[in-house]
Amino acid sequence: MMTQKLLEQVYEHARQSSLLSGTLALLEWDHHTYMPPQGGDARSEQVTLLSGLLHQRNTDAAYGDRLRELSSADSMAGLSEIDQANVRGLLRDFEKNVLLPEALVMATARATSRGQQIWVDAKQKKDFGLFRSSLEEIVQLRREEATILQKPNRTRYDSLLDQYEEGADSAQVAMVFAELRDALVPLVRDALDRESERPSRLPIEANFSIEGQRALSRWVAEKIGFDFERGRLDETVHPFCTTLGPHDHRILTRYHQDSYSSGLYGVLHEAGHGMYEQGLPVTMHGLPVGSAASLGVHESQSRLWENMVGRSKGFWSWLYPEAIRHLPSLSRVSIDQIVADLNRVERSLIRIEADETTYNLHIFIRFEIEKQMIDEELPVDELPDLWRQKYRDYLGIEPADDGEGVLQDVHWSAGLIGYFPTYALGNLYAAQLMETASQALGDLESMFSRGEFQPLLDWLRAKVHLHGRTYLPHVLMEKTNGSPLSAKPFLHYLSGKLSGSPAQGWAR
Ligand SMILES: [Zn+2]
Repeated sequence: MMTQKLLEQVYEHARQSSLLSGTLALLEWDHHTYMPPQGGDARSEQVTLLSGLLHQRNTDAAYGDRLRELSSADSMAGLSEIDQANVRGLLRDFEKNVLLPEALVMATARATSRGQQIWVDAKQKKDFGLFRSSLEEIVQLRREEATILQKPNRTRYDSLLDQYEEGADSAQVAMVFAELRDALVPLVRDALDRESERPSRLPIEANFSIEGQRALSRWVAEKIGFDFERGRLDETVHPFCTTLGPHDHRILTRYHQDSYSSGLYGVLHEAGHGMYEQGLPVTMHGLPVGSAASLGVHESQSRLWENMVGRSKGFWSWLYPEAIRHLPSLSRVSIDQIVADLNRVERSLIRIEADETTYNLHIFIRFEIEKQMIDEELPVDELPDLWRQKYRDYLGIEPADDGEGVLQDVHWSAGLIGYFPTYALGNLYAAQLMETASQALGDLESMFSRGEFQPLLDWLRAKVHLHGRTYLPHVLMEKTNGSPLSAKPFLHYLSGKLSGSPAQGWAR
């Protein structure tokens, strides 16, 4: 068959599949926003049916034959670079999907759906024993999957990591993480010594109007570049971002009356994800070149806006007048006090509440443990003790029970093993991108202090967003930054910030 004709058929198939994933995303968005409590049963049937249809499409034999034919050297030679990148990406996805026996896919779906319910109960009762056998089953199934997908010279864990961070090599990732961990542990200890000399919290009543927070957050999202003609901001329990179509991106946050920052920083984080999605090439929607490069690259965008922009003094010099207009009690504290409060270092047991300095230590603990679970068959019985030991070693504290220990995250109960490292990769990539961007654009912080975010966003669009999944994530980052994954820019940024001169964070 003619190459062009084949390409059209393959694109048509992939784009229709993406209509299904967009529909699934809408059902999920609704589930977490407006669905009435009794709507759950029907929703779960709808989602199961559509997921099944999507899986059938993704493993369709005729589609696979066309893809394989297209990817032959002869056909590829007649395609543009962008079409080649699409074909390669689609074929990689197909080959992965088709390798997995349906029985294994179904068993995993069942085990993880049950696992999440069991986990909720075990976490509530702070009893790992209740979750133990469920987790054992999930780990066993994921290990089976990892063995099927394992590539030569790679570990089994690599094949799980690959599903979230395509092409990543866990041995290399582990080396960079170990370098960062060894530098962070003393850095955190020193910062905590200094922290104890500072006043504990902002000296104002922790009571901030939800209406004020809503208005301020929306204003900020719009100013940094989230396009509300192509997106919405709504509220939910756990913030997230989802894409329903090429011009429909939803971000979600939650507001707490006792915090001026948690809702706002939820919005900054999710707007970072949303602006990445809005910057992907629209004409390629539903194809690899129109999709995000990886979870790690996605997280680099959210953490960059949330932390490296949003917790800088420049940003707050700009935001302060608007912030006190919506939250008047903030006028009784200075910009410096707010910035210090937002960059406080704390020993904490809970990952999602951790500050920027200690956050990666929480990730390394999970990464090291899950790698052992998959590659070294670490028995799940040993998890609670290993967890406690690592928290003692890295953070100097120990959970009192499993609820605030090994049971705190939903990920493993949902089968998401190999996912955690993408959070830390995102932090490292964000620091590398900020360093490269500041070399190209000049003094970013003084731009932020004038409310000029467009130059940074344009730069990210050109260097990251517009490429979609054209390259493997580590290749894209290396092309942009001119250097491979490194912990140094992040460490440099943190030590600049912690030494009390956050403005020098990006100076070289
Ligand atoms: Zn995120």
